[in-house]
Amino acid sequence: MNDSPQPSRIAFIGAGNMASAIFGGMLDSGYPAEAIVATSRSQEKRDDISQRYGIRTMQDNLAAVQQADVVVLAVKPQMMRDLCLSLRESVQARRPLIVSVAAGLDAATLDNWLGGDLAVIRCMPNTPSLVGAGASGLYANARVSDAQRQLVAELLTSVGLVEWVEQEAQIEAVTAISGSGPAYFFLFMESLEAAGVELGLSTESARRLALQTAFGAAKMARESVFDPAELRRRVTSPNGTTERAIQTFEEAGLADIVGRATQACAERARELS
Ligand code: NAP
Repeated sequence: MNDSPQPSRIAFIGAGNMASAIFGGMLDSGYPAEAIVATSRSQEKRDDISQRYGIRTMQDNLAAVQQADVVVLAVKPQMMRDLCLSLRESVQARRPLIVSVAAGLDAATLDNWLGGDLAVIRCMPNTPSLVGAGASGLYANARVSDAQRQLVAELLTSVGLVEWVEQEAQIEAVTAISGSGPAYFFLFMESLEAAGVELGLSTESARRLALQTAFGAAKMARESVFDPAELRRRVTSPNGTTERAIQTFEEAGLADIVGRATQACAERARELS
């Protein structure tokens, strides 16, 4: 995003789970450690991060912003207002690209807290980012340049899939599908494990089988030329065992339940923003 060949300097404000997943992924993808700085209020955490990742850490958020081309805001949403107000002067002096991973805070609110007229990207990541298999929805306000979009997409691709949305309201849909989605699949795995125990397997065996099946199905669906509906049809022989189970799910209204659950999630995301 600079005219210079130097890599963009990225400051992470807050060095918790999500920030460390992202800078960890960036480092694994070859982003230079010298171009990354992360801040934390705790000395212990700063020492741990510097040692583990080889990046610079500091306590002083303002100093981190003053040297940054991109500022990633990665503190809890309830701390964001005070943080933004404290950064306002530095941000307005430097005018870096702002990237927020905070759930439920819209780009205009962040921009306003930071003094206004800034390029802001709002990101809705999910927890599998912590193992490099995340899915992030991104929204850019009108001030974000193509080069800035490309840079942030590259950074987040290092922890998984990136999907842009053109309207900010679509971030609520992203929240309902991928943001909260890992929990839906965990719930299904839990249920499958419990059902396996009910059918006579040990808990350990049922869990291993349920988890590997979830992993295998996701891997197959990602790698196959067929869509999930076709893959399902192909493993569902007429009058066979799978068909009996699928019929039971359909009679119980699984698609309707998923629709209602995701609507409820999106509605809650709207209430929180
Ligand atoms: P987290 O692990 O608690 O990290 C937040 C970090 O912010 C803490 O390590 C805290 O460290 C630091 N912090 C707080 N106030 C600070 C300040 N004034 N200056 C510098 N650092 C400060 O939380 P998280 O799970 O990574 O979540 C971070 C953001 O990601 C949230 O806004 C959340 O909505 C979003 N998000 C997370 C997930 C997820 O799966 N985890 C998914 C989607 C979105 P110190 O106390 O040491 O300063």
